[in-house]
Amino acid sequence: MTQSTAVVIGAGHSGLAMSRRLTERSIDHIVLERGEVANSWRTQRWPTLRLLTPNWQTRLPGHHYAGDDPDGFMPAADVVATLTRYARLVGAPVRTGVTIHTVRAAPEGFQLRANGDVFRARAVVLATGACSRPAIPGVADAVPPSITMLTPLSYRDPGQLPDGGVLVVGASATGVQLAGEIHRSGRPVTLAVGEHVRLPRTYRGRDIFWWMEVTGLLAERYDQIDDLTRARHLPSPQLTGAPGGTFSDLSTLAAHGVRIVGRLGRIAGGVAQFSGSLANMCALADLKLNRFLNRADEWAKSSGLDDELPPPHRFPSTRIDPCSPLELDLSGGEIATVLWATGFRPDHSWLDIPVLDRTGHIRHDGGVVTGAPGLYLLGMPVLRTRASTYIHGAAADSDALATHLHCFLSSQRR
Ligand SMILES: Cc1cc2nc3c(=O)[nH]c(=O)nc-3n(C[C@H](O)[C@H](O)[C@H](O)COP(=O)(O)OP(=O)(O)OC[C@H]3O[C@@H](n4cnc5c(N)ncnc54)[C@H](O)[C@@H]3O)c2cc1C
Repeated sequence: MTQSTAVVIGAGHSGLAMSRRLTERSIDHIVLERGEVANSWRTQRWPTLRLLTPNWQTRLPGHHYAGDDPDGFMPAADVVATLTRYARLVGAPVRTGVTIHTVRAAPEGFQLRANGDVFRARAVVLATGACSRPAIPGVADAVPPSITMLTPLSYRDPGQLPDGGVLVVGASATGVQLAGEIHRSGRPVTLAVGEHVRLPRTYRGRDIFWWMEVTGLLAERYDQIDDLTRARHLPSPQLTGAPGGTFSDLSTLAAHGVRIVGRLGRIAGGVAQFSGSLANMCALADLKLNRFLNRADEWAKSSGLDDELPPPHRFPSTRIDPCSPLELDLSGGEIATVLWATGFRPDHSWLDIPVLDRTGHIRHDGGVVTGAPGLYLLGMPVLRTRASTYIHGAAADSDALATHLHCFLSSQRR
């Protein structure tokens, strides 16, 4: 049995940031990782994926991007290299190849079981990722068996797909990127679109993430957001880090020949039925885009930068076929593959502590798990601020949670 004061589960950027914070506070700990450092980026991301956050924003505690392309976007392989270097830089005590099968409450802390080993700790940090499983809607059960089904976790490249048409369900960052890539491979693509977030790559000469940062959007705290549940489930923006134009949005895809349809509602008798609300969804996304640009322009004025930046402007509304089909026969041979780009879920199935809510999510207050003193959660969307959804958000989150953990240990000692 191995005993340490704290155990961090997961050696992605969240677990490594936490390790650095614990070291800063001289809290002895180990980081247990089922694969290798940055395992998700090695095994669960498609090779052409690039971060949609710019390089300059890939900040972690004690680490700033120092390469020669701060405005570029890292391919997945560079994320692996960056995190591997970071683990060495911060001297993270990572044990690789250790899969945690159960975490239980035990006298004075927690007991963790992992392929034959047992670990004991007074505090445990769950940094096992928000995107470990695909979130596939129940309607998938009605897809005819002749059709190949894929998720972004199993997708690698278009060559892996059978010949024929592809229905991509979901138009967040993943859905629009994969719809574009598959379409460029020569396969006809239909993209089913529900609520989505449309953003330009740049506005007034600056990257959109620069605007999100300077306007304070990313710094908005979880306890000041009106509808936190909604904020935590917001689709990722229709952006890509791959070279291209201003937009990776529905207008761009439609102009290249991707067929855009409404939200997939149900599949009956092999026929997929799409919602008629596509135009409304697009209008809503355009409205929210303009609301954000208004906020950006107001910030530019109030910060005195208005004259230094190119003048404000607005983008044309989303342009799609107003007569998009409402049905598609999946058994007619036109569609060979359905790709579920419908989001991701965390996997905490190995947690043997009653901290899950009705929807299977961990109950927590900004990462401090409710009803389990000494248990912490990191790396979830809008965990403590809107930045928590992104890599750089782990810097502040890990700091706050390590401070809480430190106080918790001190109070136990007293
Ligand atoms: C497609 C996609 C694109 C993204 N693009 C961006 C982007 O452009 N910019 C950005 O900032 N963020 C992006 N993100 C969001 C986020 O940064 C990543 O999801 C990131 O990988 C999360 O880091 P993490 O350390 O919290 O979790 P992960 O990187 O998932 O790390 C969790 C680790 O825990 C390990 N683990 C899990 N279960 C166990 C267990 N039971 N026992 C032991 N180890 C375990 C895993 O092997 C893994 O190494 C993207 C996410 C996805 C899915």
